[in-house]
Amino acid sequence: MAKKTSPKKPRANAAPKTKRDGTWTEARFWQEIRMTLRKLSLRWPPRAEAKKKRRRLYTGPKKGNLKWEYQCDACRDWFPDSQIEMDHITKCGSCNYDAIAEFIVRLFCDSDGYQVLCLTCHSIKTFAEADYDQR
Ligand SMILES: [Zn+2]
Repeated sequence: MAKKTSPKKPRANAAPKTKRDGTWTEARFWQEIRMTLRKLSLRWPPRAEAKKKRRRLYTGPKKGNLKWEYQCDACRDWFPDSQIEMDHITKCGSCNYDAIAEFIVRLFCDSDGYQVLCLTCHSIKTFAEADYDQR
């Protein structure tokens, strides 16, 4: 006797897949939109402009293709390109149906809306913001 096979049961409490022909949840959909916009914002000219304002020619002892170094806006120390991050001074906020316009405006801000942070200072800021959100 053939065993009756039931269609795969959805997990209890699983979010319904309402997007992309029923293959994505709402959260996944907004995650993709957020990621795509963030990727696009890397080519936003004011971002490069902000970075340029905080650089100087590297004159230290390391050889190779280390041409510029950048000043962290928090600790004021100088770092190579690989050890800095461009940070939005005003957090971009949530990316969802209600907040998308604000998110885009903050993400694509003018050059004075950015700061350069070294990896350490950036993680401190990120940690502080995450902590703040939970209050
Ligand atoms: Zn720093």
